[in-house]
Amino acid sequence: MWKAIGLAGISCAALAVLGALVEAQTLTPSQQYVQKWEIHDRNRPHPPVITPGTCSTPEKAGNLPSDAILLFNGKDLSNWESVEGGPAKWKVGEGYFETVPKAGAIETKQAFGDCQLHVEWETPNPPHGQDQDRGNSGVFLHGLYEIQVLDSYENVTYADGQAAAVYGQYPPLVNASRPPGQWQTYDIVFHGPRFDAAGKLLRPATVTVFHNGVLVQDHVNPTGPTGHHVRPPYKPTPEKLPLQLQDHNHPVRYRNLWVRELPEEY
Ligand code: MG
Repeated sequence: MWKAIGLAGISCAALAVLGALVEAQTLTPSQQYVQKWEIHDRNRPHPPVITPGTCSTPEKAGNLPSDAILLFNGKDLSNWESVEGGPAKWKVGEGYFETVPKAGAIETKQAFGDCQLHVEWETPNPPHGQDQDRGNSGVFLHGLYEIQVLDSYENVTYADGQAAAVYGQYPPLVNASRPPGQWQTYDIVFHGPRFDAAGKLLRPATVTVFHNGVLVQDHVNPTGPTGHHVRPPYKPTPEKLPLQLQDHNHPVRYRNLWVRELPEEY
């Protein structure tokens, strides 16, 4: 009997050691970060205090959080330029700006890396066209990864090209579109890819998107830059690049754009 208990005891101890080893090997970087601190350690630094923003209403854009960078002041496109160089040639209205067909894509003057991005957009009402030819624009993270902007309200297109798709790769989890002529929101969390000094991909990009407050992209990994009928592989890119908005020949409106740069991951 004692032998059996003894063996069982050794076995449990061995398993515990083995378990600890396995656990140590499988901790993620963020879990390892947690373990650097004692639980409830009062010496642990507190997060910065910020003032949160306010939500938009159909009539009026909300306010940005106090630590966000404003990308549109409601009056001019001073934060933007044409991707071909020179001033952004899109139209500015009262509190919004609008794609000018054939004027070309625009991009932020500032480059951004990992970030939280808030974008509000509105497609024409009454709607014109169908499929991809209806309120088409796009938010290009790093200028390379498109979150599709499209009038997808009662407008069928291919799934990986509808509103809130990572274009050509990931359809949204649900279609949370509002009718044309109503402001819609994207809240995006983006982490860019990482490369080693030789240009080898260490980690793909990650994208999370809420469309009108609904989770539609849940931490997906783009396969590389997005494109029409192409899925090119990653190519080495800087950690910070401008954000772009697409001109797809449709007068899509934008307002209340802001970005919060995210700290380096654990
Ligand atoms: Mg598009």
